[in-house]
Amino acid sequence: MIRAAVLGHPIAHSLSPRIYNRWFEETEIEGHYEAIDVAPEAFETTVRKLADEGYAGVNVTIPHKERALALADEASSSATAIGAANLLLFRNGKIIAENTDWCGFSEAVEREGGPLSGDTAVVLGAGGAAAGVLYALQNYESVLLSNRTRERADAMAQRFPNVDVVPWEEKLSLGQTASGLLVNTTSLGMNGYPTLGMILGEPGPDMVVDIVYTPMETKLVRAARKGGKPVANGLAMLIWQAVPSFEAYTGLPPKRPAATLADLEMEFA
Ligand code: NAP
Repeated sequence: MIRAAVLGHPIAHSLSPRIYNRWFEETEIEGHYEAIDVAPEAFETTVRKLADEGYAGVNVTIPHKERALALADEASSSATAIGAANLLLFRNGKIIAENTDWCGFSEAVEREGGPLSGDTAVVLGAGGAAAGVLYALQNYESVLLSNRTRERADAMAQRFPNVDVVPWEEKLSLGQTASGLLVNTTSLGMNGYPTLGMILGEPGPDMVVDIVYTPMETKLVRAARKGGKPVANGLAMLIWQAVPSFEAYTGLPPKRPAATLADLEMEFA
């Protein structure tokens, strides 16, 4: 029996148990995946307890991703470069940190025909999720980054040589002038937050990605779709980051991840 979980705080509304348990069933692997609410002060002891209990590993979400990297015995080069881990594998008495968020982002973009290299991309937001996105966009000549808190954007630009910072006050104009990929990694547009308020101009960005997945279709995604642009939503990123995690736990890829995404998109439409 393969056991795995996602640790977060809060975590009650996580879709991950549904996704992984469906994949266990479809691949006929005996396994169980659960969501565990873990407060920051209990994170490290919980991880070590689950490792001792024989879990294959855990996925990690807000607010534990940086702490997850820090406590690991070993880390992949991507987790180290991003500065955060969303996957901890328990192998031979060691905790190994991985980051599959950037793979999920890349896969979601590529499946919609979007390029992962080119002249310019625009990224809004410099929080935890932005680092994975910027890591995935390292082959762009130039990435313009805008964040409400300027210092966070400046710190991110120090880590990625192709990134330049644009003041937050100018971010809305990027919807008019930007070409290439435009990515929202802020919480704006998420349920309970104000909307981004971005109007997409002509020609505007070639493709729009919004990593927010509650709601599945943000106003930004809807506007881009209406304008005939290719889009990728946060649900796609969520599914495609889960694929390498599932494979790491079980040794096998899930059978029909695209069908899982299509079903969830239909459910939340
Ligand atoms: P985070 O580290 O808390 O960062 C939040 C970001 O949103 C920061 O850039 C923050 O700017 C900005 N922000 C928040 N409220 C704002 C406001 N009122 N006005 C302007 N900017 C605001 O969170 P995160 O982990 O990066 O996650 C960000 C979003 O991505 C969330 O919706 C999360 O659910 C989603 N996400 C999706 C996936 C996926 O697989 N699809 C994966 C990870 C995250 P400041 O720096 O100024 O605070």
